Amino acid sequence: MTESQNSRALRESADVVVLGAGPAGLVLGILLHAAGIDCVLLERASRTHVQTRARAGFLAPNTVGILDRHGLSDGLHRDGSRHGTCEFRTEDGRFRLDYGALGQGGQHHVYPQQNLVTDLLTHYLDRGGRIRFHTEALAVHDADAIDGTGGTGGTRPYVTTREPDGRPTRWNARYVAGCDGRHGAARRSLPPGAVRHHHDHGVTWLGLLAEAPPSLDAVGYAVHDRGFAGHMARTPGVTRYYLQWHRGTPADAWPEQRIWDELDLRMRAADHGPLHRGTLLERGIFDLTCDVIEPLRHGSLFLAGDAASLLAPAAAKGANLAVLEAEILAAALTDALTRGDTAGLDGYSDRCLAHIWRAQEFTGWMTRLLHAAPEGDHRSAGSFFHAALRRSRLDSLRTSRIHQDWFAENYVGV
Ligand SMILES: Cc1cc2nc3c(=O)[nH]c(=O)nc-3n(C[C@H](O)[C@H](O)[C@H](O)COP(=O)(O)OP(=O)(O)OC[C@H]3O[C@@H](n4cnc5c(N)ncnc54)[C@H](O)[C@@H]3O)c2cc1C
Repeated sequence: MTESQNSRALRESADVVVLGAGPAGLVLGILLHAAGIDCVLLERASRTHVQTRARAGFLAPNTVGILDRHGLSDGLHRDGSRHGTCEFRTEDGRFRLDYGALGQGGQHHVYPQQNLVTDLLTHYLDRGGRIRFHTEALAVHDADAIDGTGGTGGTRPYVTTREPDGRPTRWNARYVAGCDGRHGAARRSLPPGAVRHHHDHGVTWLGLLAEAPPSLDAVGYAVHDRGFAGHMARTPGVTRYYLQWHRGTPADAWPEQRIWDELDLRMRAADHGPLHRGTLLERGIFDLTCDVIEPLRHGSLFLAGDAASLLAPAAAKGANLAVLEAEILAAALTDALTRGDTAGLDGYSDRCLAHIWRAQEFTGWMTRLLHAAPEGDHRSAGSFFHAALRRSRLDSLRTSRIHQDWFAENYVGV
């Protein structure tokens, strides 16, 4: 926004302006609103879009605990299911890990992200929460100038937005929460001192949503010379599948029949039973890349969820971290705004980064466990070495109780 546009822009305000209405922004908005904090959520997409975007499904016990604590879990207890077993299929046969009974114990709740987002939105709106759909945040300004208290010279952060009718608006705030994902305005507005640690696992997945009941009563991880294949239940009638995919190949390159044949082959259906086939409702390409922004605080701007750190979907951590960070940030902002106690805000970045790096480490380990070789490495001399390491890792997981306990603890933990 230019100076003259800025002076003509509509002006609105809230103590906390939250960018994005995904799991992070919604949980944060709900907790702030419940604490009596003046906040608003600005969401680029429509309500229908955010309520139908299918992504995560596996919620960790800690996440369910947070949702329980704040009365946000009725839907997931009513309509979700529980999962505590995963099955690995390899050239040496298959084995199961009842991770719910290993380590410190704990099962996943399986509840599609779009259902959770719908529940959170309904909860927030029913209680009078403020949200603007079709409102794209363009940039966060003056976040670094002060700490959000309006101290020196009264300068405060503000967010510029494009309203549905195209008008520019300026949202004045005391604090801004960037919960707008990896391509959002919060990341684009970071000062030069912010570091983005980026890593490419070198693997691409074709993610599929099939209108078909789950084919096994466990999460299925198939390790195959032709590449990884995965099976994850979503609802009794919808199942998520993944195929390791050649990077650059479009998602619609293969007809449905070929995709099911390939899933059968990699999941070794001939040995372990057929897959339930059905219409493919969605196809998406996911490059398994990850990153971490450090620090997560820049003056009055705080990052949470995918805006703070992107994780490859191999270990199902992203939505779980988003909810955890939202709860931590909500408590810290409430302390700062109601009691002037900024200790929580001061410690926010370090506290969340400890969880994030642990999740990144486990996700990287899972990624190496599941893939024969990184993209482009299938025929190289290193490929045999890589495959032998993977086989040894899987063997250790099959036979070592200590390894299994470690796996279970990290698999369900955040
Ligand atoms: C295929 C797949 C499977 C996954 N499975 C799992 C799983 O099983 N378990 C798990 O924990 N995680 C999983 N994840 C990760 C999880 O979906 C994400 O980590 C989670 O959505 C992050 O929540 P968020 O609120 O940070 O961001 P998002 O859900 O991305 O929400 C960000 C919101 O900000 C809005 N926005 C963006 N830019 C702007 C802007 N400029 N102005 C205003 N609004 C904006 C977007 O429209 C969006 O609504 C999976 C991801 C994928 C892709």
